[in-house]
Amino acid sequence: MLEVKTPKEALGIIGETYKAHRTQIEKVPINNSLGRVLSSDLVAIEHVPGFDRSTVDGYAVLAKDTFGCSESMPAVLTLAGEVLMGAASNNEIKPDTCVAVSTGGDLPEGADAVVMVEHTEDYGGGLIGIMRPAAPGNNIIFKGDDVSSGDIVLKAGTMLTAHDLGILSALGSCEVGVMKKPVIGVISTGDELVELSQKPGRGQIRDVNTTLLVAAAEQFGGVAINYGIIRDEERPLTDAVKYAVSECDVVLISGGSSAGLRDLTAHVVESVGELLFHGIAVKPGKPTIFGLVEGKPVFGLPGHPVAAYMVAELFVRPLVSGLMGAAVKRRIIPAIISEAVSSNHGREEYLAVIIGDDGAAKPVRGKSGLIAGLKYTDGHICIPRDSEGIPAGALVDIVLW
Ligand code: AMP
Ligand code: MG
Repeated sequence: MLEVKTPKEALGIIGETYKAHRTQIEKVPINNSLGRVLSSDLVAIEHVPGFDRSTVDGYAVLAKDTFGCSESMPAVLTLAGEVLMGAASNNEIKPDTCVAVSTGGDLPEGADAVVMVEHTEDYGGGLIGIMRPAAPGNNIIFKGDDVSSGDIVLKAGTMLTAHDLGILSALGSCEVGVMKKPVIGVISTGDELVELSQKPGRGQIRDVNTTLLVAAAEQFGGVAINYGIIRDEERPLTDAVKYAVSECDVVLISGGSSAGLRDLTAHVVESVGELLFHGIAVKPGKPTIFGLVEGKPVFGLPGHPVAAYMVAELFVRPLVSGLMGAAVKRRIIPAIISEAVSSNHGREEYLAVIIGDDGAAKPVRGKSGLIAGLKYTDGHICIPRDSEGIPAGALVDIVLW
Protein backbone atom coordinates (compact mmCIF):
# COMPACT_ATOMS: atom_id res chain seq x y z
CA MET A 1 0.00 0.00 0.00
CA LEU A 2 1.36 3.38 -1.02
CA GLU A 3 1.24 6.43 1.19
CA VAL A 4 -1.98 8.47 1.03
CA LYS A 5 -1.53 11.74 -0.89
CA THR A 6 -2.96 15.13 -0.10
CA PRO A 7 -5.25 16.47 -2.84
CA LYS A 8 -2.51 18.91 -3.85
CA GLU A 9 0.07 16.16 -4.14
CA ALA A 10 -2.37 14.02 -6.10
CA LEU A 11 -3.09 16.88 -8.52
CA GLY A 12 0.65 17.41 -8.90
CA ILE A 13 1.21 13.79 -9.87
CA ILE A 14 -1.76 13.84 -12.25
CA GLY A 15 -0.45 17.10 -13.73
CA GLU A 16 2.93 15.54 -14.55
CA THR A 17 1.22 12.96 -16.74
CA TYR A 18 -0.39 15.46 -19.08
CA LYS A 19 2.36 18.09 -19.13
CA ALA A 20 4.21 16.31 -21.88
CA HIS A 21 1.16 14.82 -23.50
CA ARG A 22 -1.51 16.67 -25.47
CA THR A 23 -4.22 15.46 -27.76
CA GLN A 24 -3.80 16.32 -31.43
CA ILE A 25 -5.21 19.30 -33.26
CA GLU A 26 -8.13 19.12 -35.66
CA LYS A 27 -10.17 21.61 -37.65
CA VAL A 28 -13.91 21.70 -37.12
CA PRO A 29 -16.64 23.83 -38.66
CA ILE A 30 -17.53 26.72 -36.36
CA ASN A 31 -20.99 25.27 -35.79
CA ASN A 32 -19.45 22.16 -34.25
CA SER A 33 -16.97 24.01 -32.08
CA LEU A 34 -19.08 24.83 -29.01
CA GLY A 35 -17.34 23.51 -25.88
CA ARG A 36 -14.18 22.62 -27.81
CA VAL A 37 -10.76 23.87 -26.75
CA LEU A 38 -8.98 26.32 -29.03
CA SER A 39 -5.63 24.88 -30.16
CA SER A 40 -3.75 28.14 -30.74
CA ASP A 41 -4.14 31.85 -30.06
CA LEU A 42 -6.65 33.38 -32.43
CA VAL A 43 -5.19 36.58 -33.88
CA ALA A 44 -7.48 38.97 -35.75
CA ILE A 45 -6.33 39.75 -39.28
CA GLU A 46 -8.94 42.44 -39.82
CA HIS A 47 -10.75 45.17 -37.90
CA VAL A 48 -14.26 44.64 -36.53
CA PRO A 49 -16.16 46.64 -37.52
CA GLY A 50 -14.35 47.32 -40.74
CA PHE A 51 -15.75 50.89 -41.00
CA ASP A 52 -17.09 53.56 -38.61
CA ARG A 53 -20.77 52.82 -37.87
CA SER A 54 -23.69 54.63 -36.36
CA THR A 55 -25.14 52.99 -33.24
CA VAL A 56 -28.52 54.71 -33.60
CA ASP A 57 -31.11 55.74 -36.16
CA GLY A 58 -30.59 59.45 -36.76
CA TYR A 59 -28.51 62.02 -38.56
CA ALA A 60 -24.77 62.08 -39.07
CA VAL A 61 -23.45 65.56 -38.34
CA LEU A 62 -20.45 67.68 -37.61
CA ALA A 63 -20.71 67.95 -33.84
CA LYS A 64 -19.70 71.60 -33.84
CA ASP A 65 -22.76 72.47 -35.95
CA THR A 66 -24.94 71.32 -33.04
CA PHE A 67 -23.13 73.09 -30.20
CA GLY A 68 -25.46 75.30 -28.16
CA CYS A 69 -28.68 74.06 -29.77
CA SER A 70 -31.74 73.18 -27.67
CA GLU A 71 -35.46 72.40 -27.93
CA SER A 72 -36.21 76.13 -27.99
CA MET A 73 -33.35 76.98 -30.33
CA PRO A 74 -32.72 74.07 -32.70
CA ALA A 75 -29.78 73.98 -35.06
CA VAL A 76 -31.22 73.78 -38.56
CA LEU A 77 -29.20 71.61 -40.96
CA THR A 78 -29.69 70.80 -44.63
CA LEU A 79 -30.36 67.13 -45.33
CA ALA A 80 -27.71 66.09 -47.84
CA GLY A 81 -28.76 62.48 -48.40
CA GLU A 82 -29.26 59.09 -46.83
CA VAL A 83 -26.93 56.16 -46.12
CA LEU A 84 -28.39 52.84 -47.31
CA MET A 85 -27.84 49.77 -45.13
CA GLY A 86 -25.29 47.39 -46.53
CA ALA A 87 -23.82 50.07 -48.77
CA ALA A 88 -20.91 52.46 -48.41
CA SER A 89 -22.04 56.02 -47.78
CA ASN A 90 -21.23 58.19 -50.73
CA ASN A 91 -21.91 61.43 -48.93
CA GLU A 92 -19.52 63.78 -47.33
CA ILE A 93 -20.69 65.97 -44.49
CA LYS A 94 -20.06 69.64 -45.17
CA PRO A 95 -20.73 72.38 -42.62
CA ASP A 96 -24.41 72.85 -41.75
CA THR A 97 -25.50 69.65 -43.47
CA CYS A 98 -26.52 66.24 -42.17
CA VAL A 99 -27.10 62.80 -43.64
CA ALA A 100 -29.77 60.33 -42.51
CA VAL A 101 -28.27 57.09 -41.23
CA SER A 102 -29.73 53.92 -39.65
CA THR A 103 -28.35 51.85 -36.79
CA GLY A 104 -25.25 50.08 -38.07
CA GLY A 105 -25.01 52.22 -41.21
CA ASP A 106 -21.70 53.42 -42.64
CA LEU A 107 -20.72 56.81 -41.20
CA PRO A 108 -20.40 59.43 -43.96
CA GLU A 109 -17.01 60.93 -44.60
CA GLY A 110 -16.35 63.94 -42.37
CA ALA A 111 -19.13 63.21 -39.84
CA ASP A 112 -17.96 62.99 -36.24
CA ALA A 113 -21.26 62.34 -34.41
CA VAL A 114 -24.75 61.02 -34.92
CA VAL A 115 -27.83 62.63 -33.36
CA MET A 116 -30.66 60.25 -32.46
CA VAL A 117 -33.77 60.74 -34.56
CA GLU A 118 -35.72 61.25 -31.28
CA HIS A 119 -33.77 64.48 -30.76
CA THR A 120 -34.51 65.91 -34.18
CA GLU A 121 -37.44 67.21 -36.16
CA ASP A 122 -37.98 66.95 -39.90
CA TYR A 123 -39.28 70.36 -41.04
CA GLY A 124 -39.79 69.17 -44.61
CA GLY A 125 -38.18 70.80 -47.61
CA GLY A 126 -34.85 69.17 -46.77
CA LEU A 127 -34.42 70.91 -43.41
CA ILE A 128 -33.74 69.03 -40.17
CA GLY A 129 -33.94 70.62 -36.74
CA ILE A 130 -31.47 69.33 -34.15
CA MET A 131 -32.70 69.76 -30.57
CA ARG A 132 -29.75 68.42 -28.61
CA PRO A 133 -26.07 69.13 -29.06
CA ALA A 134 -23.76 66.20 -29.83
CA ALA A 135 -20.16 65.79 -28.79
CA PRO A 136 -17.62 64.33 -31.23
CA GLY A 137 -17.79 60.53 -31.12
CA ASN A 138 -21.40 60.38 -29.90
CA ASN A 139 -23.31 57.34 -31.14
CA ILE A 140 -20.46 55.97 -33.23
CA ILE A 141 -18.52 52.74 -33.03
CA PHE A 142 -15.27 53.28 -34.75
CA LYS A 143 -13.49 50.90 -37.10
CA GLY A 144 -11.66 48.32 -34.93
CA ASP A 145 -13.51 49.28 -31.73
CA ASP A 146 -14.73 45.70 -31.29
CA VAL A 147 -11.59 43.92 -32.45
CA SER A 148 -8.44 45.46 -33.89
CA SER A 149 -6.38 43.70 -36.50
CA GLY A 150 -3.43 42.07 -34.71
CA ASP A 151 -5.31 41.59 -31.41
CA ILE A 152 -5.15 38.19 -29.74
CA VAL A 153 -8.88 37.67 -29.66
CA LEU A 154 -9.00 34.31 -27.88
CA LYS A 155 -6.14 32.46 -26.23
CA ALA A 156 -5.12 28.87 -26.87
CA GLY A 157 -6.78 26.65 -24.26
CA THR A 158 -10.07 28.57 -24.25
CA MET A 159 -13.10 26.29 -24.03
CA LEU A 160 -15.34 27.93 -26.60
CA THR A 161 -18.65 29.37 -25.44
CA ALA A 162 -21.56 30.81 -27.40
CA HIS A 163 -20.01 34.27 -26.86
CA ASP A 164 -16.74 33.12 -28.34
CA LEU A 165 -18.49 31.70 -31.39
CA GLY A 166 -20.05 35.13 -31.85
CA ILE A 167 -16.57 36.68 -31.93
CA LEU A 168 -15.29 34.02 -34.32
CA SER A 169 -18.27 34.69 -36.58
CA ALA A 170 -17.52 38.41 -36.68
CA LEU A 171 -14.02 37.50 -37.88
CA GLY A 172 -15.26 35.07 -40.49
CA SER A 173 -13.64 32.00 -38.91
CA CYS A 174 -15.68 29.33 -40.67
CA GLU A 175 -13.34 26.63 -39.38
CA VAL A 176 -11.71 26.53 -35.98
CA GLY A 177 -8.54 24.73 -34.90
CA VAL A 178 -9.34 22.79 -31.73
CA MET A 179 -7.76 20.06 -29.62
CA LYS A 180 -9.05 16.56 -30.24
CA LYS A 181 -11.28 15.37 -27.43
CA PRO A 182 -9.44 12.99 -25.13
CA VAL A 183 -10.88 9.50 -25.42
CA ILE A 184 -11.92 8.24 -22.02
CA GLY A 185 -12.58 4.59 -21.37
CA VAL A 186 -15.01 3.68 -18.62
CA ILE A 187 -14.93 0.30 -16.92
CA SER A 188 -17.14 -0.74 -14.00
CA THR A 189 -16.17 -3.63 -11.79
CA GLY A 190 -18.21 -5.57 -9.30
CA ASP A 191 -19.82 -9.00 -9.14
CA GLU A 192 -22.95 -7.37 -7.76
CA LEU A 193 -23.51 -5.12 -10.77
CA VAL A 194 -26.17 -5.76 -13.38
CA GLU A 195 -26.98 -3.92 -16.60
CA LEU A 196 -29.51 -1.10 -16.42
CA SER A 197 -32.07 -3.10 -18.35
CA GLN A 198 -31.96 -5.93 -15.81
CA LYS A 199 -33.96 -6.16 -12.63
CA PRO A 200 -31.42 -6.61 -9.85
CA GLY A 201 -31.90 -9.66 -7.68
CA ARG A 202 -31.22 -9.60 -3.97
CA GLY A 203 -27.61 -8.66 -3.41
CA GLN A 204 -27.36 -7.10 -6.84
CA ILE A 205 -27.51 -3.45 -7.92
CA ARG A 206 -27.71 -1.67 -11.23
CA ASP A 207 -24.51 -0.26 -12.61
CA VAL A 208 -24.77 3.48 -11.97
CA ASN A 209 -21.17 4.46 -12.46
CA THR A 210 -20.82 3.58 -16.12
CA THR A 211 -23.53 6.00 -17.18
CA LEU A 212 -22.49 8.58 -14.58
CA LEU A 213 -18.84 8.55 -15.58
CA VAL A 214 -19.51 8.42 -19.33
CA ALA A 215 -21.67 11.54 -18.92
CA ALA A 216 -19.11 13.22 -16.66
CA ALA A 217 -16.29 12.45 -19.11
CA GLU A 218 -18.30 14.09 -21.88
CA GLN A 219 -19.12 17.05 -19.68
CA PHE A 220 -15.40 17.49 -19.04
CA GLY A 221 -14.84 17.74 -22.79
CA GLY A 222 -13.85 14.15 -23.56
CA VAL A 223 -15.43 11.47 -25.64
CA ALA A 224 -16.22 8.30 -23.72
CA ILE A 225 -16.03 4.63 -24.61
CA ASN A 226 -18.07 2.32 -22.42
CA TYR A 227 -16.41 -1.04 -21.71
CA GLY A 228 -19.28 -2.23 -19.55
CA ILE A 229 -19.22 -4.33 -16.41
CA ILE A 230 -16.24 -6.52 -15.62
CA ARG A 231 -16.35 -9.20 -12.92
CA ASP A 232 -14.09 -8.98 -9.87
CA GLU A 233 -11.51 -11.31 -11.36
CA GLU A 234 -7.96 -10.53 -12.22
CA ARG A 235 -7.81 -11.95 -15.73
CA PRO A 236 -10.89 -10.23 -17.22
CA LEU A 237 -10.03 -6.94 -15.51
CA THR A 238 -6.45 -7.06 -16.75
CA ASP A 239 -7.62 -7.80 -20.29
CA ALA A 240 -10.19 -5.01 -20.15
CA VAL A 241 -7.64 -2.47 -18.91
CA LYS A 242 -5.09 -3.46 -21.56
CA TYR A 243 -7.69 -3.28 -24.28
CA ALA A 244 -9.03 0.07 -23.04
CA VAL A 245 -5.58 1.71 -22.87
CA SER A 246 -4.93 0.61 -26.43
CA GLU A 247 -7.95 2.64 -27.56
CA CYS A 248 -8.10 5.52 -25.08
CA ASP A 249 -6.13 8.45 -23.69
CA VAL A 250 -7.41 7.90 -20.14
CA VAL A 251 -9.13 4.95 -18.48
CA LEU A 252 -11.49 5.17 -15.51
CA ILE A 253 -12.17 2.01 -13.55
CA SER A 254 -14.78 2.29 -10.84
CA GLY A 255 -15.14 -0.15 -7.95
CA GLY A 256 -12.56 -2.42 -6.44
CA SER A 257 -10.30 0.45 -5.45
CA SER A 258 -10.09 -0.22 -1.69
CA ALA A 259 -7.90 -2.77 -0.02
CA GLY A 260 -10.41 -5.61 0.28
CA LEU A 261 -9.95 -9.17 -0.98
CA ARG A 262 -12.01 -8.53 -4.08
CA ASP A 263 -10.46 -5.11 -4.72
CA LEU A 264 -8.24 -5.83 -7.66
CA THR A 265 -7.75 -2.51 -9.38
CA ALA A 266 -4.50 -1.49 -7.67
CA HIS A 267 -3.05 -4.93 -8.20
CA VAL A 268 -4.01 -4.98 -11.88
CA VAL A 269 -2.60 -1.50 -12.53
CA GLU A 270 0.62 -2.47 -10.79
CA SER A 271 0.94 -5.74 -12.68
CA VAL A 272 0.58 -4.22 -16.15
CA GLY A 273 1.81 -0.70 -15.48
CA GLU A 274 2.97 1.63 -12.75
CA LEU A 275 0.93 2.51 -9.67
CA LEU A 276 1.56 6.19 -8.84
CA PHE A 277 -0.66 6.49 -5.80
CA HIS A 278 -3.31 4.61 -3.88
CA GLY A 279 -5.33 6.85 -1.59
CA ILE A 280 -6.06 10.58 -1.39
CA ALA A 281 -6.83 12.28 1.93
CA VAL A 282 -10.30 13.39 0.86
CA LYS A 283 -13.81 12.45 1.91
CA PRO A 284 -15.50 11.03 -0.02
CA GLY A 285 -12.98 9.39 -2.28
CA LYS A 286 -10.10 8.15 -0.16
CA PRO A 287 -9.71 4.87 -2.02
CA THR A 288 -8.62 6.46 -5.27
CA ILE A 289 -5.94 4.93 -7.44
CA PHE A 290 -3.83 6.53 -10.12
CA GLY A 291 -1.27 4.95 -12.34
CA LEU A 292 0.06 4.61 -15.85
CA VAL A 293 -0.48 1.67 -18.15
CA GLU A 294 1.43 1.84 -21.41
CA GLY A 295 2.03 5.48 -20.55
CA LYS A 296 -1.70 6.24 -20.34
CA PRO A 297 -3.24 7.59 -17.12
CA VAL A 298 -5.55 5.10 -15.41
CA PHE A 299 -7.80 6.03 -12.50
CA GLY A 300 -9.26 3.60 -10.02
CA LEU A 301 -12.30 5.40 -8.65
CA PRO A 302 -14.30 4.44 -5.57
CA GLY A 303 -17.36 2.32 -6.24
CA HIS A 304 -19.80 4.52 -4.35
CA PRO A 305 -21.33 6.67 -7.07
CA VAL A 306 -21.19 9.95 -5.14
CA ALA A 307 -17.55 9.34 -4.29
CA ALA A 308 -16.81 8.32 -7.88
CA TYR A 309 -18.42 11.51 -9.12
CA MET A 310 -16.63 13.77 -6.63
CA VAL A 311 -13.26 12.27 -7.47
CA ALA A 312 -14.04 12.62 -11.16
CA GLU A 313 -14.95 16.26 -10.65
CA LEU A 314 -11.87 17.06 -8.57
CA PHE A 315 -9.18 14.91 -10.15
CA VAL A 316 -10.32 13.58 -13.54
CA ARG A 317 -11.64 16.90 -14.85
CA PRO A 318 -8.23 18.62 -14.53
CA LEU A 319 -6.63 15.71 -16.37
CA VAL A 320 -9.12 15.84 -19.23
CA SER A 321 -8.71 19.62 -19.50
CA GLY A 322 -4.93 19.34 -19.19
CA LEU A 323 -4.76 16.90 -22.08
CA MET A 324 -6.33 19.64 -24.19
CA GLY A 325 -4.00 22.32 -22.83
CA ALA A 326 -6.83 23.97 -20.92
CA ALA A 327 -7.03 24.90 -17.26
CA VAL A 328 -10.15 24.07 -15.27
CA LYS A 329 -12.09 27.26 -14.69
CA ARG A 330 -14.09 26.75 -11.53
CA ARG A 331 -16.71 29.30 -10.63
CA ILE A 332 -16.74 30.09 -6.94
CA ILE A 333 -19.36 32.12 -5.13
CA PRO A 334 -19.37 33.09 -1.45
CA ALA A 335 -22.48 32.22 0.57
CA ILE A 336 -23.67 31.87 4.14
CA ILE A 337 -24.06 28.25 5.20
CA SER A 338 -27.53 27.56 6.58
CA GLU A 339 -26.61 24.67 8.91
CA ALA A 340 -23.58 23.69 10.89
CA VAL A 341 -21.51 20.82 9.53
CA SER A 342 -19.05 18.85 11.56
CA SER A 343 -15.96 17.14 10.32
CA ASN A 344 -12.87 15.67 11.93
CA HIS A 345 -11.55 13.06 9.63
CA GLY A 346 -8.08 14.43 9.07
CA ARG A 347 -9.15 14.58 5.44
CA GLU A 348 -10.39 17.42 3.30
CA GLU A 349 -14.12 16.93 3.07
CA TYR A 350 -16.29 17.82 0.10
CA LEU A 351 -19.95 18.38 0.63
CA ALA A 352 -22.56 19.00 -2.05
CA VAL A 353 -24.77 22.03 -1.43
CA ILE A 354 -28.01 23.44 -2.72
CA ILE A 355 -28.26 27.22 -3.04
CA GLY A 356 -31.58 28.24 -1.50
CA ASP A 357 -33.86 31.04 -2.70
CA ASP A 358 -32.27 33.20 0.01
CA GLY A 359 -28.83 32.57 -1.52
CA ALA A 360 -27.66 30.49 1.46
CA ALA A 361 -25.79 27.22 0.99
CA LYS A 362 -27.68 24.21 2.34
CA PRO A 363 -25.36 21.26 2.84
CA VAL A 364 -26.62 17.91 1.61
CA ARG A 365 -25.71 15.23 4.06
CA GLY A 366 -25.93 11.64 3.11
CA LYS A 367 -24.00 8.45 3.00
CA SER A 368 -21.74 8.38 0.00
CA GLY A 369 -23.62 5.45 -1.52
CA LEU A 370 -26.75 7.53 -2.00
CA ILE A 371 -26.70 8.90 -5.51
CA ALA A 372 -30.05 10.69 -5.22
CA GLY A 373 -28.36 13.07 -2.76
CA LEU A 374 -26.72 14.85 -5.68
CA LYS A 375 -29.98 15.91 -7.27
CA TYR A 376 -30.68 19.65 -7.35
CA THR A 377 -27.23 20.38 -5.94
CA ASP A 378 -25.48 23.43 -7.35
CA GLY A 379 -21.92 22.74 -6.31
CA HIS A 380 -19.79 21.76 -3.38
CA ILE A 381 -17.97 23.25 -0.46
CA CYS A 382 -14.70 22.08 1.00
CA ILE A 383 -14.13 21.63 4.72
CA PRO A 384 -10.40 21.97 5.32
CA ARG A 385 -8.45 19.01 6.61
CA ASP A 386 -7.78 20.19 10.12
CA SER A 387 -11.08 21.95 10.71
CA GLU A 388 -13.61 20.63 13.21
CA GLY A 389 -16.40 21.75 10.92
CA ILE A 390 -18.23 24.91 9.99
CA PRO A 391 -20.77 26.71 12.22
CA ALA A 392 -24.15 27.77 10.86
CA GLY A 393 -24.03 31.29 9.44
CA ALA A 394 -20.35 31.11 8.48
CA LEU A 395 -19.23 32.32 5.08
CA VAL A 396 -18.25 29.50 2.71
CA ASP A 397 -17.07 29.35 -0.90
CA ILE A 398 -19.36 27.33 -3.13
CA VAL A 399 -17.58 25.77 -6.09
CA LEU A 400 -20.29 25.49 -8.71
CA TRP A 401 -20.43 22.22 -10.63
P1 AMP B 1 -16.13 -1.10 -4.14
O1 AMP B 1 -15.30 0.13 -4.40
O2 AMP B 1 -16.04 -2.10 -5.22
O3 AMP B 1 -15.82 -1.66 -2.79
O4 AMP B 1 -17.60 -0.61 -4.09
C1 AMP B 1 -18.08 0.25 -3.08
C2 AMP B 1 -19.58 0.32 -3.17
O5 AMP B 1 -19.97 0.91 -4.38
C3 AMP B 1 -20.26 -1.02 -3.13
O6 AMP B 1 -21.42 -0.90 -2.36
C4 AMP B 1 -20.61 -1.29 -4.56
O7 AMP B 1 -21.70 -2.13 -4.70
C5 AMP B 1 -20.88 0.09 -5.07
N1 AMP B 1 -20.61 0.16 -6.49
C6 AMP B 1 -19.48 -0.24 -7.10
N2 AMP B 1 -19.55 -0.03 -8.42
C7 AMP B 1 -20.77 0.48 -8.66
C8 AMP B 1 -21.44 0.89 -9.83
N3 AMP B 1 -20.88 0.78 -11.03
N4 AMP B 1 -22.68 1.40 -9.70
C9 AMP B 1 -23.25 1.52 -8.50
N5 AMP B 1 -22.67 1.16 -7.35
C10 AMP B 1 -21.44 0.64 -7.42
MG1 MG C 1 -16.49 -4.03 -5.56
